[in-house]
Amino acid sequence: CGIVGYIGKREAYPIIIKGLKRLEYRGYDSAGIALYDGNDIKLCKTKGKVAGLEEKIQQEITTDGTLGIGHTRWATHGVPNDINSHPHYSNSGNLVIIHNGIIENYDALKQELIKRGYSFKSDTDTEVLVNLIEDVMKKEHIKLGKAVQVALNQVVGAYAIAVFDKNKPNEIVVARLGSPLAIGVGDDEFFIASDASPFIEYTKNAIYLEDEEMAIVRRGKDVKIRKIKDDSLVDPYMQELKL
Ligand code: GLU
Repeated sequence: CGIVGYIGKREAYPIIIKGLKRLEYRGYDSAGIALYDGNDIKLCKTKGKVAGLEEKIQQEITTDGTLGIGHTRWATHGVPNDINSHPHYSNSGNLVIIHNGIIENYDALKQELIKRGYSFKSDTDTEVLVNLIEDVMKKEHIKLGKAVQVALNQVVGAYAIAVFDKNKPNEIVVARLGSPLAIGVGDDEFFIASDASPFIEYTKNAIYLEDEEMAIVRRGKDVKIRKIKDDSLVDPYMQELKL
């Protein structure tokens, strides 16, 4: 029900955990995080509160890295448990996603993916989406951003997503339809969140994605926003946040 992400020069972990706490008011049953430490993805997730996630993280993973995503889940597909919590990996382990919302046609997409050899650990609609993105990447030999766009054009439902590829750890791809998504723009760094509260202490510059828009945020580059349906570029509309 809440998403947070960071890519830039700072340690992502404290920003994401604090951000998840700021989003607790939205309500949730589980929480999780994925960090890229320069070498691999470190993922930790659990049913229950963000405070419980912090304890589990201390026992299970290292928290270095300047790229990461975090999630608070309000279960719609699959009971609240550790496995159904986000983030979710794709089958190859290269992609990792967080998602708010519902993929309504997930079952048809899932059956199709199973026929193509994919398997699923969770009962979520979200794990279907991340594997659909992976399948499109492999089938069409395209990069993550384009594959997200192609996949979302096959999806019926509502979403705010953030996804990254450990083989391209300089970017996060985000998209929205029906669930809010804000991008905080700092100095060579980007913040992603369901609302601006997780990043207002770091930057006053925010872009709110509109429905049917996706964005690629790249370390040290400008943000590129496109319409999911027709691929047209959208001029980023930067707003100044007021306290
Ligand atoms: N439909 C997804 C799930 O059940 C995401 C729910 C949410 O918005 O947190 O895992």
